[in-house]
Amino acid sequence: MTGTYVKSSLLTIYDLHSHTTASDGVFSPAELVARAVAMGVDVLAITDHDTVAGLPAARRAVSDGALPLTLVAGVEISTLWQNHEIHIVGLGIDAEHPAMAALLAAQREKRLARARTIAARLEHAGIANAWEGANRLAEDELVTRGHFARYLVSIGVADNVAKVFKNYLSQGKTGYVPPQWCTIEEAVRAVQQAGGQAVVAHPGRYRLSAKWLKRLLDHFAAAGGDGMEVSLCQQTPQEKTVLAGYARERGLLASQGSDFHQPCAWIELGRKLWLPGGVEPIWRDWPVARDPAPVMSSEG
Ligand code: AMP
Ligand code: MN
Ligand code: MN
Ligand code: MN
Repeated sequence: MTGTYVKSSLLTIYDLHSHTTASDGVFSPAELVARAVAMGVDVLAITDHDTVAGLPAARRAVSDGALPLTLVAGVEISTLWQNHEIHIVGLGIDAEHPAMAALLAAQREKRLARARTIAARLEHAGIANAWEGANRLAEDELVTRGHFARYLVSIGVADNVAKVFKNYLSQGKTGYVPPQWCTIEEAVRAVQQAGGQAVVAHPGRYRLSAKWLKRLLDHFAAAGGDGMEVSLCQQTPQEKTVLAGYARERGLLASQGSDFHQPCAWIELGRKLWLPGGVEPIWRDWPVARDPAPVMSSEG
């Protein structure tokens, strides 16, 4: 069925960070693209954790529904840098490129090994069947800590997901397993070999001091990274200004994204995303979005 969609804003709305049921989002790829259109998003990147499995269904939903949405093929890669888990978003990738496929296959093995250890630790602490429970919630897709958190809530171990993270899954807690992710260099290389741009996700969320955040961004820029997220939903104007300054100082392009996982009061697709002046947007050299829009990936 096709309908006429009238957008309330003349500005192109870019949301370049979002999740589906292929990782820890609650909406299927088809549901997510429909919601993006309803929210007035023009250009959406699906960036599931260490997987591109949601992209084909999202593409189909956009073309079958002739949706006025440009889909950007993306991924969010977990990396390890100086003992910190740093997320690198890849945008405009050829999802089938061998370099990307090899990296994601290795990450998947690491995820499975970690999930088994998490489950064993929880079991030892008296919480049974976490492996089965988390995998059931993941529905054969990539299992994340988010699935463990939801399972623990479902069996009444905690009231909400945030409490599970705080009391069971964060550093120093029973179910915390030090990750073995790839390096930042490996993630940047795979993204770029696959024809995409590499972007530091949510730089303000790593609990790094300003000194360490600048070190991270220096390291990322030296590794040849392309950009960093400067605009997110939950952000003070001051934070945005500081991040914009960091991007400018290092010649990094600026990206923006909601990191939408599920409906919640303060995060929504396309909401409150804008870049301050003085930065170059990551989409600077992208083909102009058309309507109905093509899928943007390096395959063209
Ligand atoms: P993983 O990649 O398996 O380590 O899972 C990380 C994901 O868990 C993040 O992308 C978030 O979606 C989610 N997460 C991490 N910390 C929290 C938290 N404190 N509360 C809720 N969700 C969280
Ligand atoms: Mn997540
Ligand atoms: Mn992330
Ligand atoms: Mn994310």
